[in-house]
Amino acid sequence: MFYLIIFIFGTVFGSFFNVCISRIPIKKSVVYPDSSCPVCKTKIKPYHNIPIISYILLKGKCAYCGTKINIHYFLVEILTPILLILLFISLEAQFSIVFFKYAIFISFGLIIFFIDFFHYIIPNKLSLPLIIIGFIFSILPHTDVNWISAGIGALSGFLLFLFTAYFFQKITDKDSLGGGDIKLIAAIGAFLGIWGTLFTILFSSLIALATLLVLKHDRQKHFPFGPFLVVGSIFYILAGNTLISLYLSFFNLY
Ligand SMILES: [Zn+2]
Repeated sequence: MFYLIIFIFGTVFGSFFNVCISRIPIKKSVVYPDSSCPVCKTKIKPYHNIPIISYILLKGKCAYCGTKINIHYFLVEILTPILLILLFISLEAQFSIVFFKYAIFISFGLIIFFIDFFHYIIPNKLSLPLIIIGFIFSILPHTDVNWISAGIGALSGFLLFLFTAYFFQKITDKDSLGGGDIKLIAAIGAFLGIWGTLFTILFSSLIALATLLVLKHDRQKHFPFGPFLVVGSIFYILAGNTLISLYLSFFNLY
């Protein structure tokens, strides 16, 4: 029953995140109620705006002019509930403060992932509040990362990225990590604490490197690191706990 509730909430929130992904980079209000097709400007009818189902029924195209709807609409509507359900399972199916903490982190993470992926920016509007929210959770009771670990995590991530960006720029005269990445790693530090931050940096760098090698990406081109940081940190949140609970449930069988 809880899973169904999370699924429905997840898809509804997911459609709101999609509005954020398309409107924040072009500085349009996310609370303005009506959505319309960006090409033919036709207002989207409520029955064409049902999460997941509408995208499939319309085969990913505008009902009026046939313009392709960006795939992120479908991906975010399906990924949000899946990630929230995995989070719920990994926290032993409890609606705890830790669940809400990481549900917020994953929500911001998904929006940042797609905005950075499409536009090569991580808006301050997202990264700065995320840092503050991380610290608020670190001083609440029954949280998992205390404010000391959050502070060390945020500061070390921030400084590490700042120095990397600075020296890389000095040596190669090219930009590597942007200001957005530096603020994002500070937010990750505030949420995950020092060990989670170090894990995220290591894991994200490895998958970024692997992706570069597979794609044989032209190094002159811009290569956003934010999406990898999001994947790395969400992997840490879900797998860290999931592996432990799988391990425990394995022994419960006996
Ligand atoms: Zn249209």
